[in-house]
Amino acid sequence: MNLVAAKGTSSADVGFNEYKERFVLRLWEIYPGWASSVGYHKFDSVLVVPDEKSREKELAFCRANLDSLKKFQLQELSDANKTDYHLIENQLNYAIWGIKEQRSYEWDPSGYNVSGSFADMLGNDYEALDTRIHSFYERMANIPAYYAAAKNNIKNPSKEHTALAIEQNLGGISVFEQDLPEALQKSHLSAEEQGRIMHRAKLAVAVIRGYAEWLKDLPNATPRSFRLGKELYAKKFEYEIQSGFTPDEIYNKALKHKIELHGKMYGITKDLWPKYFPAQPMPENRLAAIKQMIDAISVKHVQPDSFQAAIEHQLPELVAFIKNKDLIYIDPSKPLVVRKEPGYMAGVAGASINAPGPYDKNGNTYYNVGSLAGWDKDKAESYLREYNHYILQILNIHEAIPGHYTQLVYANRSPSIIKAILGNNAMIEGWAVYTERMMLESGYDGDRGVNSTEASPEMWLMYYKWNLRSTCNTILDYSVHTKNMSKEDAMSLLTQQAFQQQAEAEGKWKRVSVTQVQLCCYFTGFTEIYEFRESLKEKMKDKFNLKQFHEQFLSYGSAPVKYIKQLMDQDNKTTTK
Ligand code: ZN
Ligand code: ZN
Repeated sequence: MNLVAAKGTSSADVGFNEYKERFVLRLWEIYPGWASSVGYHKFDSVLVVPDEKSREKELAFCRANLDSLKKFQLQELSDANKTDYHLIENQLNYAIWGIKEQRSYEWDPSGYNVSGSFADMLGNDYEALDTRIHSFYERMANIPAYYAAAKNNIKNPSKEHTALAIEQNLGGISVFEQDLPEALQKSHLSAEEQGRIMHRAKLAVAVIRGYAEWLKDLPNATPRSFRLGKELYAKKFEYEIQSGFTPDEIYNKALKHKIELHGKMYGITKDLWPKYFPAQPMPENRLAAIKQMIDAISVKHVQPDSFQAAIEHQLPELVAFIKNKDLIYIDPSKPLVVRKEPGYMAGVAGASINAPGPYDKNGNTYYNVGSLAGWDKDKAESYLREYNHYILQILNIHEAIPGHYTQLVYANRSPSIIKAILGNNAMIEGWAVYTERMMLESGYDGDRGVNSTEASPEMWLMYYKWNLRSTCNTILDYSVHTKNMSKEDAMSLLTQQAFQQQAEAEGKWKRVSVTQVQLCCYFTGFTEIYEFRESLKEKMKDKFNLKQFHEQFLSYGSAPVKYIKQLMDQDNKTTTK
């Protein structure tokens, strides 16, 4: 690769950068709802009517841009633009496939729901409230046409997606009946104008109710199965995950990995048994023994009121350990701000990274930590056992350092609007899951300090349980959508083999029956990154450097792992020559 291209200043790159800007602007015209959701508010007042005409327009946009892409020679572009090229091409092909082949606009009535985007307009104060309410009003105008088109599109919908559509559409009505009047009171709009807005809102509510009623009464003698089916699944996996592996390959790897995890968990359980149950014989059944050990270890957890403090306390320890072990450079000028979750997120405990969107460059990145205040005792206890002393450390690694937050800091070094909006989820989640294992392999254990060389068996056991979750998510998703797995078998997989509580497993079943493929992104990304690292280690022998591997890997931004692999192999060849 030549140096000029590497810096992204070749004439090909100049042309491609200009093209990307045009592409994104057109993208927002075609998908105004998507634009609003990433913080681009120029088209807030537009609600696209999902009819044949708009699908034709979308197809034309995709085909025209696939043609435009062909004008660029991939090999002449910088690495950053090469991966952007792949992401754009994938997005366009995915959209065409969605319209032509997947056709979920016919069988998934839950794809029609306006309330979320309207709620965002009232909930986020990116502009003056009066301005946002004006856009809200304009946007409501198309609600009747929107649902009329929906009814026109729907043919033999799946029962599961129909039930979800009824539940979610009725659930969203409060945006128009409660949130809107509350916002109007805080606004400076005249009584007359407020009246006009509420009049339109009432009409919107009637239309949404009408849609739910229509779905309830819809004669549907031959509903489509909620299962995607093998052929569509393989294509969706290709577009969504953009993996170097096929779904069959990943499924088989997950099955094998599950058996390995059970073996390791049983080994630890045997070793720890006398420590925790000195007077009790171990159950004959291996899985029952592991389950009993997990339950015993989970009792160690923080108190409800020190949940946030425990998380805050761990972050500097993670940074110090990483520095001490030379695992990856952590930029000290970008510390992570831990905060109590803001009001609009209240009620969801746990922790998550909240990064500014692509149009909000100066925004802070926050680590939102849920509060357990006001929870009843049993609910809090069950939650704290789930996020016990050990899992909480793994959660911090995953969400913050060196997981999502660290990846984000590296990605922002070479900002790309394309990667900010089309970034590959399997890479992003795969990295976070990879760092969990990498940290434990490096000896991380919060109880053993920055010089720890080995994590405790308890830590490993809980890590394996955690890892079993993403492994079994993949097995579940693939089996349900391509192998007709029954609910009974799914529940047995999750509760008996992945040691999940009944409630968690029920929630997962509901999720897998209305989504497809997304549940595979964690395990697939993790496996690709881990196997890639192991293959490099083998090839480079003592020349392999873990820190260098991490930094180079992250330098390409949120691109699919298969392309990062290609580019790293290429770059490494050039430098060793
Ligand atoms: Zn307790
Ligand atoms: Zn994650």
